[in-house]
Amino acid sequence: MRTPLIAGNWKMNGDSGFIDELMNGLVSGIKSSAIDVLVCPPAVYLSRVKALTGSSCIAVGAQTVSEYANGAFTGEISLAMLQDLGCTYVILGHSERRSIYGETDSAIAKKFIAAVDAGIKPILCVGETLEEREKGETLNVVARQLNAVVDVAGIERFADAVIAYEPVWAIGTGKTATPEQAQEVHAAIRAEVAKADADMAAKIRILYGGSVNAANAAELFANSDVDGGLVGGASLKVNDFIAICQAANA
Ligand code: PEP
Repeated sequence: MRTPLIAGNWKMNGDSGFIDELMNGLVSGIKSSAIDVLVCPPAVYLSRVKALTGSSCIAVGAQTVSEYANGAFTGEISLAMLQDLGCTYVILGHSERRSIYGETDSAIAKKFIAAVDAGIKPILCVGETLEEREKGETLNVVARQLNAVVDVAGIERFADAVIAYEPVWAIGTGKTATPEQAQEVHAAIRAEVAKADADMAAKIRILYGGSVNAANAAELFANSDVDGGLVGGASLKVNDFIAICQAANA
């Protein structure tokens, strides 16, 4: 049985006042949970958010990290720093990191290895563009993105990892994959993992991301291979994020 995970990716949004209000709302609305709940604030607020989680069950993660341990890497944040702040997860290979900052499959694989070896759970994002979907390449694209990491990191490093299927055309667009589209790709991702390790495939959590909201969450999470969500815009609204968590807990 896989414990669902709902992860909020706040991206580059918020300030201290906004974050205090959001966290206070989440902490009082999510007292205890049978699912795992995670928030990923901008790096400069990780410490503040961690302090605000108090004794709640809400975990804190980062939106990216450096593959290097320390040193002359201006602007970067290390895994040791994330550990120091009490972070337990890191999002890797988000489509915005791939398309805007040129993160390659190979750079993502290096970050994945570094994260696992540092004891931080990676959430590996994969997903096709609209053009790739229209050309019928979706399953090939996600398999390529996944195997680029499996081949370098080794399947054993996926034991505590999470995979997020995020169709690029659904991120921040208000266009969600249908439950059938999501299930088809999630099942294909699980089958791809199974080629390397069937036991791992049965255990690994595969999240759906792409315009998840309070209204569509339940039907997406009802699919047998959808183990929760990676939520962008709706994770900035207390009531919506709580409703999405409840949909995963149903
Ligand atoms: C995301 O940023 O990972 C995401 C899925 O965003 P949104 O929910 O806003 O589409």
